[in-house]
Amino acid sequence: MIVSSRIASMSESATLAVGAKAAAARARGHDVIAFAMGEPDFDTPENIKRAAIAALERGMTKYAPTPGEKSAREAIASKFARENGVEGTFEQVTVTAGAKHAIYMALQAIVEPGRGDEVLLPTPAWVSYKALIELAGARCIEVPGSVANGFRVTPAQIEAAVTGRTVGIVWNSPSNPCGTAYPADEVRAICAVLARHGRIAVVSDEIYEKLIYPEVTPGLRHFSPGSIEALRDRTITINGMSKSYAMTGWRIGYMIAPKPMARELIKLQGQMTNSIPSFFYPAIIEALGNSAAGVESMRVKFAARAALIKRELDAVPGFVTVAPNAAFYAFPDVSAHFGKVSPAGARITSAQSFADALLEEVHVAVVPGEDFGECARGNIRLSFACSDELIVKGVGRLRGWVQELR
Ligand code: PMP
Repeated sequence: MIVSSRIASMSESATLAVGAKAAAARARGHDVIAFAMGEPDFDTPENIKRAAIAALERGMTKYAPTPGEKSAREAIASKFARENGVEGTFEQVTVTAGAKHAIYMALQAIVEPGRGDEVLLPTPAWVSYKALIELAGARCIEVPGSVANGFRVTPAQIEAAVTGRTVGIVWNSPSNPCGTAYPADEVRAICAVLARHGRIAVVSDEIYEKLIYPEVTPGLRHFSPGSIEALRDRTITINGMSKSYAMTGWRIGYMIAPKPMARELIKLQGQMTNSIPSFFYPAIIEALGNSAAGVESMRVKFAARAALIKRELDAVPGFVTVAPNAAFYAFPDVSAHFGKVSPAGARITSAQSFADALLEEVHVAVVPGEDFGECARGNIRLSFACSDELIVKGVGRLRGWVQELR
């Protein structure tokens, strides 16, 4: 069989690949400490599970409307208005098979293949954006952040990256893999640049919005580009249940778009997946309406872990780590060790070889930075969605190994 070049040229998800390597090492009997997966270690709150179980028992087992049950879409529209200042009716909401699916559809809807379209991507950025931008038929234009500026790009950088071919930007604050959020005033300043270029669609992935730590950066709060009047008619705001409600396995995402765009997105979903499982809709309503205390208790734990992993990583020689203040990732620059040789004789020339040797020799799984963007080649990502004990033990093991590099 001949595979299309579109798929053949696509890279495998680096984060899923590390997860698989860690699982294989574990199956060989090693005591693996995995900082690889981007998912909360908490279970889905009981009230949310109950809502789905009750719906299933009531017989909510048939096809639902393609974009979702009206009541759930209304709950989502009111969440966007109340919490994000993103105004819209339920008709503008589509419930998707995870935020990933929403991002895929949004990019399919804004990019015209073969026209030379460009989509801006502030980096370091989550691995799937570039693959999905390219799959849609656009060039991915990386706008690089750096450890020195806390991984935050500037309005001037965005302005300089815009060309006559720019059709969109993928915005992600709080960020995977950076573990940081932009202050609201910086988002506004970047939005002011975007507002001047009327053709640019904004795809804003806000899946980590509830995991922000003013405990680390006082006053830090989430800000949605879609709340800005000038961008309202060209922003698709994406969110989901995976991270905030510990529901990664349920595969529930959602997005809100201007009405004409929403109609097109629903059309695409109707030909692709149709609705998500119908008995999940009551669980969405329950999560959005009745889970604030549960979310807050997870957030507080993540905030403490953010401070803990920063302390632990600062004790590793040669590492430079921006303090995580959002999501559950630390993204240290480890490039000071490139050119060295590991205790077992592996040559460390890149983040990939660093991560491979670390997993092979002391069974600590981290994700190498290469796939998060050109500017991330010197970094590794550690997810701190694990217990304090594992953070201390795993980074301790990492530190011992780094101290042996020659
Ligand atoms: N966006 C970002 C930034 C993510 O980190 C992830 C999950 N790793 C997703 C989207 C996908 O989330 P979902 O489980 O809703 O598909």
